[in-house]
Amino acid sequence: MASSGRVVLFFELLACLLCPFELSQGKAKEPFTLKNLPPLQKASSYPVGCATTYDYIIVGGGTAGCPLAATLSLRYRVLLLERGGSPYGNRNVSYMENFHIGLMNMAPDSPSQVFISTDGVINARARVLGGGTCINAGFYSRASSSFIQEVGWDEDLVNKSFPWVEEKIVQWPKIAPWQAALRDGLLQAGVAPFNGYTYDHVSGTKVGGTIFDETGYRHTAADLLAAGDPDNLRVLLHASVHKIVFDSRQGRLKARAIGVQFTDENGRHHQAFLNSNKDSEIIVSAGAIGTPQLLLLSGIGPKNDLQNHNIPVVLHNKYVGKGMADNPMNSIFIPTRSPPRQSLIETVGITEEGVFIEASSGFGQSSESVHCHHGIMSAEIGQLSTIPPKQRTLEAAQKYAHNKLNLPKEVFHGGFILEKIDGPLSTGHLVLTDTDVRNNPAVTFNYFSHPQDLNRCVYGIKTIERILKTNRFSELSADGAGLSMERVLNMSVQANVNLIPKHTNDTESLEQFCKDTVITIWHYHGGCHVGKVVDQHYRVLGVSGLRVVDGSIFSRSPGTNPQATVMMMGRYMGVKILRERLGRAAGV
Ligand code: FAD
Repeated sequence: MASSGRVVLFFELLACLLCPFELSQGKAKEPFTLKNLPPLQKASSYPVGCATTYDYIIVGGGTAGCPLAATLSLRYRVLLLERGGSPYGNRNVSYMENFHIGLMNMAPDSPSQVFISTDGVINARARVLGGGTCINAGFYSRASSSFIQEVGWDEDLVNKSFPWVEEKIVQWPKIAPWQAALRDGLLQAGVAPFNGYTYDHVSGTKVGGTIFDETGYRHTAADLLAAGDPDNLRVLLHASVHKIVFDSRQGRLKARAIGVQFTDENGRHHQAFLNSNKDSEIIVSAGAIGTPQLLLLSGIGPKNDLQNHNIPVVLHNKYVGKGMADNPMNSIFIPTRSPPRQSLIETVGITEEGVFIEASSGFGQSSESVHCHHGIMSAEIGQLSTIPPKQRTLEAAQKYAHNKLNLPKEVFHGGFILEKIDGPLSTGHLVLTDTDVRNNPAVTFNYFSHPQDLNRCVYGIKTIERILKTNRFSELSADGAGLSMERVLNMSVQANVNLIPKHTNDTESLEQFCKDTVITIWHYHGGCHVGKVVDQHYRVLGVSGLRVVDGSIFSRSPGTNPQATVMMMGRYMGVKILRERLGRAAGV
């Protein structure tokens, strides 16, 4: 047979093998429902010494892990292990009005686990099936095409994988007044043109998608599990994986990942193993904090650090936990005549300078609870927070109490315009503090250590100043005459709570303002970079049977906000792995 004939046959054969999951992308479909959601079982239901083995064990049922598990289950047996509980029936997860109450909940079973980077910025990581999509602000916006090219993804598959997510859980927002004001303010301030409602990353001003529907109900990555095959997909909740098990027998060229050890909700230990097929894999999708942490706990990382914690070294790799980055966010509080309706992010200004302008406003819960509880990382009041228990030094608590008394009452009447910088270029690292997987590792982001990041922050604040001066925003101020920048900077210094010491020139030097009021927009990433920890296909270098699929592989955050691209990546990698494996099985 001529070689071109063989190629045609190969693609026909592959298309046939891939039918069940490829066809779902093109034809007219029934509306997506949760009726095929697999049972969500507690980890304690997993029998000790269970003999069942799997083609794929996925650690972390988050933003990437859920679409990945669903896709792989269409052909193979998949075990998905998630340390958190179910998002269903949890009002703090399901309703936008509880966004900041959820972030404030510091109970050990809270879907949100607080951590404070060594920089002094209060942050949060997800601990729930659905991961970050269960605690985030819901804004949905795709990565730029330059990002897709930079990471080397197949554009055709990317363009099929985004809609696969969107048709299931993404909506257009019914734009809130504060978001409409930002849209108009951005355009009047020259962040143009208006690109309408679009998921695409295009310069100018746009309205993006959201995972909240018109009633404020949140749809999450956990819903995407219903697109899998429930007979092939076993989901365990409260399953904290603390170690990947390797076969390092002599004679093996590389240690091979063969299983995992995890603890259930009662603290009992379990193990789960892959079957003997050489293509079977453990895939870690535990997020940018959880994935490097688990690699380190399993013996992959800098030798000296591992030895300091008495962790047997499986593979020395000095890059695990390196290149951690968090896009700094700085926000300006703008008091208004009357309390604005609650809104999280719906509008974004995408500037050519690599600065993104977004906004949030108001509260959903009763005014009484606003005054009782300041959401620990509430975007609405710039993370005005109580100090988390472990950080309650006498001095810190006193300082917080004092600051709280001095808070202007208006901080509860108004909204924020925030700026986030693309990238960022400043990076840090993650190291273990102990060997308990439930505890946070120590993370350092080194915000603004790169001068370009600081310059872009200043540009962002100046852009917000231009927006403030527009008619649209003057009309919103208490006397209708507008607000001076000095006044809003002053209020913002007080409203933005981090553990960074403030300076007297915070409102005179925008550089100082940026450094002292930096908070997070929770877009941290990195720790397992391509070429350093994983290869182009996200297989962990130096071992076999182990892959990483989540935000830890990124060296910059995708798009204005990452969740769209992270969910898409879960689907994309699932299809890619299936294609490759089915192609190998067919001997082509
Ligand atoms: P995650 O979604 O965090 O998934 C990791 C999962 O692994 C978690 O469920 C975790 O519990 C589990 N896990 C970790 N360790 C283990 C272990 N050892 N064993 C078992 N399971 C484990 N992005 C946007 O695009 N728009 C927004 O509006 C937005 N707002 C945000 C607001 C907040 C408060 C937060 C926290 C994030 C926000 N983001 C937003 C960012 C976005 O949600 C995250 O970047 C994204 O969800 C990260 O996905 P991931 O798959 O890498 O990790």
